[in-house]
Amino acid sequence: MPTDHAAALPGHPFFHYQDGTLFAEAVALTELAQQHGTPLFVYSQAALAHALDAYQQGFAGRNVGIHYAVKANSNLSILQFFAEQGCGFDIVSAGELLRVLQAGATPASVVFSGVGKTRAEMQLALRTGIGCFNVESEAELAVLNEEAGKLQIRAPISLRVNPDVDPQTHPYISTGLKNNKFGIPHERALQVFQQAAALPWLEVRGIDCHIGSQILSERPFLDALDKLLDLVAAVERCGIALHHIDCGGGLGIQYQTEVPPQAGALWQKMFAHADARGYGDRRFLIEPGRSLVGNAGVCLTEVLYLKPGEDKHFCIVDAAMNDLPRPAMYEAFHAISPVVPRAGTPVTTYDVVGPVCESGDWLGRDRALAVQAGDWLAVGSAGAYCMSMASNYNSRPRAAEILVHGSEHRVIRQRESFAQMIETER
Ligand SMILES: *Cc1c(COP(=O)(O)O)cnc(C)c1O
Repeated sequence: MPTDHAAALPGHPFFHYQDGTLFAEAVALTELAQQHGTPLFVYSQAALAHALDAYQQGFAGRNVGIHYAVKANSNLSILQFFAEQGCGFDIVSAGELLRVLQAGATPASVVFSGVGKTRAEMQLALRTGIGCFNVESEAELAVLNEEAGKLQIRAPISLRVNPDVDPQTHPYISTGLKNNKFGIPHERALQVFQQAAALPWLEVRGIDCHIGSQILSERPFLDALDKLLDLVAAVERCGIALHHIDCGGGLGIQYQTEVPPQAGALWQKMFAHADARGYGDRRFLIEPGRSLVGNAGVCLTEVLYLKPGEDKHFCIVDAAMNDLPRPAMYEAFHAISPVVPRAGTPVTTYDVVGPVCESGDWLGRDRALAVQAGDWLAVGSAGAYCMSMASNYNSRPRAAEILVHGSEHRVIRQRESFAQMIETER
């Protein structure tokens, strides 16, 4: 049984055991599960602030914009928190743009990424006056120029360059290699910058890259920066001035035993690199998502049934792949801990699975747990790419979300009702 104040889940400093119960800050998770039901996402505001502070420590005296990547967790209260802390946003759709505006973001603090922006999305973003379009192809440049011309608004742009750096992460979340759909190949970038500079309704502002997600070493970030700086030099030699250098997101978090770089230490190295090449005074942007919210949240779930088998024992819980899609999508690992650890119940190795009718609907494999039906479990690292990817598959309403702050908590998303789920259908 974990001792009091022991780290309950790897990499979650604001979740701890106290008197035999798992807490988020000063709130017992038993109380939240009782009051609000399960599955239930619980986020710690102190953990959000802590993760943001880790970046800011590397930025002292530097000119940096932190643009939170909305797709990691797009709850309005989470967005509002980051807006209040002075963050900008990295969006990938009109829906995300409307969300950040609703949450109080200033349009100029928004950068718009993504390979498939529609004309309607471009028009909305142009009218809103966003800070920068991160353009991903030559075809997109032409369409954006056309739409900007129609509205007589010059579009601020950056070109997303594909630096061909291997981030050594899962193939589905690796985005900076030659063979994936993102960005403009490094070899073509200079030519495309010249094309962009010649288009009347575009204003070249910067260069960007984003090489992947859940990156666990410093090397790929430093290599990508080097390649970007090579291009900055080449582009500026052609007389095109770049206002900012956007290094994207992608820093990993601890799900299990990983040891990701510390954001502040990584950025001290990045700036040492930039200084050595004479770019230390430039404006830098970053677009972190997972590393700001991932370990600020858990998902509480109730054990419905224990099902012994010949080869495998199953622990069937009320959260499923529609709430926590990462294991099914990427075979991702999430730590799973009991909310109230039991003494006296034998430890058994279970596959923890949900009720959805798919064999891919599992949350954890081969987990040693001492549990009984009716117990609550906390699934770790549930702050990023969980609720924002949740669906209604199997006609399951989406879960509620809670934000804890000290000994207070508030519901930041109500549990979806059946009526809401079918509201738009006929
Ligand atoms: C997803 C994404 C991010 C955020 O990635 P994380 O791994 O969550 O930090 C940043 N920039 C772009 C362009 C993205 O697509």
